[in-house]
Formats: sequence, structure tokens, C-alpha cells
Amino acid sequence: MAHEIIMPKAGIDMTEGEIVKWFKKEGDPVTEGEIILEIMTDKTSMELEAEASGILLKIIGQEGETVPVTTVIGYIGEQGENVVAEKDKYTAPEEEVVEEVPSHKTLTRLEDSYNVIVIGGGPAGYVAAIRASQHGAKVAIVEKGEFGGTCLNVGCIPTKAYLSTGEIIDGVENAAARGINFESTNYKVNMPKVVQYKNSVVKKLTSGVEALLRSNQVDIFKGIGKINKNKDVVVDGTTVIKGDKIIIAGGSKVSSINLPGIDNPNVLSSDDLLALEELPETLAVIGGGVIGIEMAQAFEALGSKVTVIEMMDRIIPSIDVEASELLTKLLKKKGVDIKTSTKIIELADKGGKVEVRLEGGTSVVADKVLVSIGRRPDIEALGEVDFEMENGKLKVDRYMETSVKGIYAPGDVNAIKMLAHVAFRMGEVAADNAVKGNHRELNLHSSPSVVYTHPEVAMVGLTEEQAREKYDVRVGRFDFVANGRAMASGDNVGFVKVIADNKYGEILGVHIVGPAAAEIINQASLIVEMEITVDEV
Ligand code: FAD
Repeated sequence: MAHEIIMPKAGIDMTEGEIVKWFKKEGDPVTEGEIILEIMTDKTSMELEAEASGILLKIIGQEGETVPVTTVIGYIGEQGENVVAEKDKYTAPEEEVVEEVPSHKTLTRLEDSYNVIVIGGGPAGYVAAIRASQHGAKVAIVEKGEFGGTCLNVGCIPTKAYLSTGEIIDGVENAAARGINFESTNYKVNMPKVVQYKNSVVKKLTSGVEALLRSNQVDIFKGIGKINKNKDVVVDGTTVIKGDKIIIAGGSKVSSINLPGIDNPNVLSSDDLLALEELPETLAVIGGGVIGIEMAQAFEALGSKVTVIEMMDRIIPSIDVEASELLTKLLKKKGVDIKTSTKIIELADKGGKVEVRLEGGTSVVADKVLVSIGRRPDIEALGEVDFEMENGKLKVDRYMETSVKGIYAPGDVNAIKMLAHVAFRMGEVAADNAVKGNHRELNLHSSPSVVYTHPEVAMVGLTEEQAREKYDVRVGRFDFVANGRAMASGDNVGFVKVIADNKYGEILGVHIVGPAAAEIINQASLIVEMEITVDEV
């Protein structure tokens, strides 16, 4: 007899759940324990596993439908089994049928107007859309790729998945020093599995974002959104959506450089490198910024021999000099070759590898080359409207409003500070102002930055050099080498440095290299935000 798939009761208060996505279609084989659908409760999104193996015979609850708990929404059984006779088919009450996602092939929405239209479903865009909807606005969002944007798909999350895999390897390598002896310390990195794990995390998060948007009553349009002369948003050139306010959250894309040989197929962007299923034996990283250094650390740990080539005199010039110097020393100790103050002349094919030719006549030969020299705003959404720009960046004021009244631009597209949590905050500010009129200003002075290397590097506020330029300062410093807990963890490299104004004791900047720096920096962030003095701390 066929096995019923039911809407679970996942909590005392849960009375109904929304079917967000079926990962299988009718006729597909399913295995017990395999994730087959995603549902959304009033609190969270959940993935449901098949409770039996067989064929997905029938899907009764359709995507977008909200059904009461314990309702049968599908059947698993044997090929050819008839299930319709066994149970009455569930039909959603008429008023509960969720409107279909508008198709870009029709012009159905022309007469329908939104309060806010958001272009781009990355951190800035999806937060702005949800926020605007929470304020009571009727909201549409247009996304040309996958929800979650750069951060979830090819940025923060994939890199953090690789870096944490790298830390597991570090742990295995250091286990003997802590008294754990394996029979053999040989291990092999199964790169397709590493990629698969990363992809599974990404998938969970991106579908969670889509579910969140739906549960916040945001209408979803899939396609490329562009603004026309009338300030409507046109999706894929066919569907015209009208709205009172527009939020452009198009984010950013990888930058390239104009060097001879740059079009070699083994020269990759960070997007490409994160999709590689074969670990390169040798990797050259052009650009020692945050992304380049995180990638260098991750691929070194996975087993590649990595060389970083940086034009400036130190890696990640935006962080404190001491932090940058310590990180350089530690990465070199791990085997990463770091060449600073080094200019690249050209790239050339060398028997299937790439030769990176450097000024002064030397070169680096690698299987793959990562170009990570920064990112540039994606301005495809701007369409037919003229905006004030600054070096390719969309100019905004402190309310996140562009030079065109009623059009806002939070996130990487304005390139003020290209970080996901900053994009969240900008998205909130843009939505608040778009819905309620310009009243909320953006303030980033307490927003932290983190480099997720091992050890982590985190900072908030001014660097020592910046602070010294403006103020009479005092600097406090404590090294993790003398910290008991860090010692016990065997993770005692690094320091915490606090820069304060000498007269009032106000904390101007905090810089941490060391264990849990990404977490500790949140306290520092709060201190800077609240303008708490050294004595009060
Ligand atoms: P995006 O995330 O780029 O999203 C923009 C979205 O808009 C995309 O989904 C795009 O498809 C869509 N879009 C663009 N134009 C259109 C259009 N015309 N029509 C429809 N849709 C459109 N930040 C951190 O804070 N911490 C980290 O650890 C971190 N690591 C990173 C690692 C890497 C390798 C990279 C590349 C970035 C990392 N970042 C990190 C930066 C972070 O990813 C970005 O700052 C953040 O994603 C910016 O959010 P956004 O919404 O402005 O833009």
C-alpha cells in the first residue's frame, strides 16, 4: 500500500504549512531519508525526508499551497500503484490558493502597481524586500539568477565552507601534538565531495531565502529587471511592472584586468574556482585582498601549492599593518608563497599551465590562476534612466537614495563597503526610507570586517595609522600567547589591539588576529557604536 506524505505538525502552535518546493517530480524514484520537499511554517523553513523508498506516485499539495497539518500532500509507492482511490485528494480551499508566480512571458501585471519594486535578490535586495513588506508595502522582487546573490552562491558561504574544511585538515595534521595518534595520518581530499558539501549548504540557504520572501508576501519575478524611461521595471524585456519606489540592489560582479593572456581558460574568477571539481596542484592568486587571501588559505589547506602575487607592499592593505604582517608570516609558515610589491606583465600558456610573467624577468607557473583584483557594481538594472555615477559606482546619499528621486541603491552596487552584513543594513535603510520617506541615515562606523583565515583577522573602526592622523591616541595590546584559554586550545597566535582617544578614552578602533576574532569583534563593534570609553569597559 502506498505511503502517505503528510504535512507534519512541527510544533505545538503549528496549524498549517506552506509547500515551498518539491525536489522530486511524479514518477521519480525516492530513497528513504532523501530530502524530497521543503515546507515553510510560520517560523522557519524545513526540509522533509522521504519516510519510505519507492516511486513518488502522486503530488497532491502543489508548490505555493498552504495546507493544514496532517494533510496528505503526496504518495510514495510501487510503480503502477493507484493511489487516488485510497484517499480523497486534498484541494486547497479557494481563498487559500496562492497566486501563481507571474510568468515573464505575459504582461499580466501591467495594471497592477506595487509600492516598492526591488531589483536583485542578494543580501541587500532580499532584506529590503522583506523589510518593506513588513512595513505594509506591496512589494515585488526581480532576480535574474539565484536568490542569495553573491554572498550565498559564490561568496561568503562557499568560501567559509572551504575554509572550515581546511581547518579540519589543520586539526588532523596537528592532532599528534595533542596526543591523538592515528594509525596512519594519510588522508585524501575528495574534491567533488568537498564541492558537493559546499553546494548542499548553498542550496539550503538559497531556497530558505526564497521561502522567506514568499512567506513575507513578496511577489517574485524571475528574469533580468531593467528600468525604462517611465521608471517602470521591465522584466526580460516583456513584463512591465509599475511601482511607486524602486530599490536597485544589483550587487557586484568580478573585475578583470587587461593583461595579455588573461583570456587563457586556466585563468579563473572566484566564481570559477569555487566550482572546480579537480584540485589544482599549483595555484597562483593575482591580488592579495580579502578574497584572494581567503582562497589562498583554503586551497593551501586542501593541498594546492599556492603563490599570491600582490602589487602593494602588503597583503590586505585595508587592515592594520601589524595584522597584515602577522598574517603574511603565518601564511608563509604554512607554505603559501607571498610576493608583495610585484607587478605582472603578462600571462602565457606553458604546456597547458599558465606562466605569470612578473616585472624584473621572473615568473610563476601554475595549473590555475585566480584573478581576484576586486569587484565592480552590476549596473545592468539601470536601463534607460540616467543616474549620477562615480567611477562605475552608483552614487547614493546618506538615505541610500540615488540622484533619481524615489530610486534607492543599497549594497555592493554603490560600492561604499562591499560586505554582506553592510548590504543587509543598507537594504534596511533603503526600505525604511522608500516606504516611510527619507528619515533614516546610514551609519557604518561600527560595522566590522573579518578575514576568515586561520587565525581570523577582524577589525572595527579606525586602524592605528588612521587614528594617529586625526587624534592623540593611546594603544593597548594583548597577545593571545599569554591567554590561558588560547593556550589550552593550542590556538595562541595573534593579538588584540585597542586604539583609544587619549583625552576622553573613547575607543576608536579594535583589531584582532586570533582565535574567534570574528565573534569577539561583535563586542568591540557594540563598544564603538555605544561610544563606551576605555575606563567604562
Ligand atoms: P549581490 O550579493 O551581488 O546580489 C545581487 C543580486 O542581484 C544577484 O543575485 C544578481 O543576480 C541580482 N541582479 C543583478 N542585476 C539584476 C537585474 N538587472 N535583474 C535581476 N537581478 C539582478 N562579505 C562578507 O560580509 N563576509 C564574507 O565572508 C564575504 N566573503 C566573500 C567571498 C567572496 C568570494 C566574494 C565574491 C564576496 C564575499 N563577500 C563577503 C561580499 C558579499 O558577498 C557581498 O558584499 C554581498 O553579496 C553584497 O550583497 P548585494 O545584495 O549588494 O549584492
